[in-house]
Amino acid sequence: MGKELDTMQDTVQELFSFIESSPSVFHVIENMRKMLDAEGYEQLLESASWKLKEGGKYYVIRNGSSLIAFRLTRTDYRGFQMIASHSDSPTFKIKENPEMDVEGAYVKLNVEKYGGMLMAPWFDRPLSVAGRVLVKESGRIVSRLVNIDRDLLVIPNLAIHMNREVNDGYQYNVQKDLLPLYGMNQEKGTFMKQIAEAAGVRKEDIAGQDLYLYSRAKGSVWGAQEEFISIGKLDDLQCAFASLKGFLASENGESVPVYCVFDNEEVGSSTRQGAASTFLQDTLIRINEGVGRSDGEYRRSLAASFMLSADNAHAMHPNYVEKTCPTNRPKLNGGIVVKYSANQKYTTDGAAAALFADLCERAGVPFQTFHNRSDMPGGSTLGNLSGNQVAVKCVDIGLAQLAMHSPYETAGAEDTDSLVRVSKVFFESAVTETAYGILEI
Ligand code: ZN
Repeated sequence: MGKELDTMQDTVQELFSFIESSPSVFHVIENMRKMLDAEGYEQLLESASWKLKEGGKYYVIRNGSSLIAFRLTRTDYRGFQMIASHSDSPTFKIKENPEMDVEGAYVKLNVEKYGGMLMAPWFDRPLSVAGRVLVKESGRIVSRLVNIDRDLLVIPNLAIHMNREVNDGYQYNVQKDLLPLYGMNQEKGTFMKQIAEAAGVRKEDIAGQDLYLYSRAKGSVWGAQEEFISIGKLDDLQCAFASLKGFLASENGESVPVYCVFDNEEVGSSTRQGAASTFLQDTLIRINEGVGRSDGEYRRSLAASFMLSADNAHAMHPNYVEKTCPTNRPKLNGGIVVKYSANQKYTTDGAAAALFADLCERAGVPFQTFHNRSDMPGGSTLGNLSGNQVAVKCVDIGLAQLAMHSPYETAGAEDTDSLVRVSKVFFESAVTETAYGILEI
């Protein structure tokens, strides 16, 4: 069925090269676009009319930072088999007019935070800058990706001698503590000049920019038996990459496979391109219209649809076992994590979980369960947000990891491969309610 899948080791190396070549959210989407183009997918513009044909393979991009891909396997499809993940990760955004002179001795850059990161690990490591610039070109505004692609900045710690209490706990102030050192006495405007050079454009033609810091640390496979992997942005590029691989390897089934990756999860998803926006709903409605189906048929297809909301999960931490629920303790390399929350911060319920367990069994992939401790609120994710626009059965899943929202996160070496496998089986299947209370895949 479908394409041969890569080995677990190959998948890890592919994940590393995907993350290392995706230093900003715009690069994430550009690299996905390249993968889809290589497989013959056609880009649709939201501002144009869509001419969809049976057997067609398509994708839509919003804001250069969110993407939805689908295959129109047949026009009499049952529903939509969807996996959603997110493209963004916590980082620091470069502010406008970023250069700050320090006593005529140094130049540092002014930044603000994007999302909720662990701050301490951003210190004392090589950083660089990537993102996009908007450039004036013959009367138009054109978006260009930019990556300085060398060690450019460091946020130096204050020596222990100057703050003896720092190891007793420290409250970081972004405006004071987190500004990266950039240079010494270069001319004002050098930063944007370097950005323009890296983008291959003239500085005076840059009309706007979205630029972010990123860590230069490469991926690593480590541990006694090489059972661990570490790299930045595993949340959520591990899920985004694995589900895309599963999507591309899957054979056509009776439903439309839909691959979604949304921006701005780390800041609440309520943007034009976030999971709480109309992006998914708009796309599904246009698929329905594009094949000449009625509004009633659209609603019928939603009732026969299923979504996996795939966002990384917290593994039990070796030094903080007590932070985990006493009876649901995901571990690295334990397979896909199914996330539960009685108050529906995660969408999983018994019915959706049962369907997902069946898929895991078919894929030959292990799964494990996650609840927050009953006295801890925990985070939220994508499933219930996209559910506000497109109400379908959903299960919240993820891959177990440590140090979530550090610029260097840790996961299990086997788990990416597990998500590729279950995604492939998922995209090939179709969920239908054949009688009241009876669900079949
Ligand atoms: Zn996440």
